[in-house]
Amino acid sequence: MGRARMTWIGTSWKMNKTLAEARAFVDGLVAARSALDGVRAFVIPAHTAIAAVRERLPADVPVLIGAQNAHWEPAGAYTGEVSMGMIADVGATLVEIGHSERRQHFGETDETVALKVAAAVAAGLTPLLCVGEPAGVRAAGGETDWVAGQVSRGLSRLATPDLHKVVVAYEPVWAIGDLGREAQPYEIAPVMEMLSARFRPAAVLYGGSVNRRNAAALLGVPGTDGLFVGRAAWDVAEFIELVRIA
Ligand code: PGA
Repeated sequence: MGRARMTWIGTSWKMNKTLAEARAFVDGLVAARSALDGVRAFVIPAHTAIAAVRERLPADVPVLIGAQNAHWEPAGAYTGEVSMGMIADVGATLVEIGHSERRQHFGETDETVALKVAAAVAAGLTPLLCVGEPAGVRAAGGETDWVAGQVSRGLSRLATPDLHKVVVAYEPVWAIGDLGREAQPYEIAPVMEMLSARFRPAAVLYGGSVNRRNAAALLGVPGTDGLFVGRAAWDVAEFIELVRIA
């Protein structure tokens, strides 16, 4: 079955890339400009590089820019945090919320995720709500209910008409990063179909050990509107290769 909507392909750089490296990536995007037509490409730099990416990227190169996190309060005495309005001010239109690394290492909970999703929409940003079950839940066969619960709680502070403004990324914890294992299409299909049928967000993306070898098969899973890639897309040539596959 073909995907009717535009395919999303994006990468989060996580805690990587100097300004020089970020600018070099943008230059690679510009050099491959024609490949970007017809896909919804996005890059999510560290906060320090968002403005540099925005400034370097010509307005006619269709790549969205995101942030990896932002606080829900609009301003105030919150040392070390940045607000949704601040990341929008430097050029982000997307914001990643609730990535498993933040849930695991930085105390992100379903409640803080819900506050951030609502704050993002209020600031005119597209929340990229990240969800996914740990290995133990998968081993017990509980992944679909687990993920549905995470999404319900993450969206709980949004008014119903705003639900379609959210992009959901399904990223099983056991499939993320160097220690992860690649998910097979049949393993993600029930969750992807549930997300798209039950929540009807702007898009449902799959993430976790995506690379140029498995991208086409994962994109073929019903309910999948795109891919959210880590390590395999940090080199701009690899990112463009994934864009071409999409
Ligand atoms: P990975 O990261 O592609 O390096 O596994 C995915 C993610 O965290 O979104």
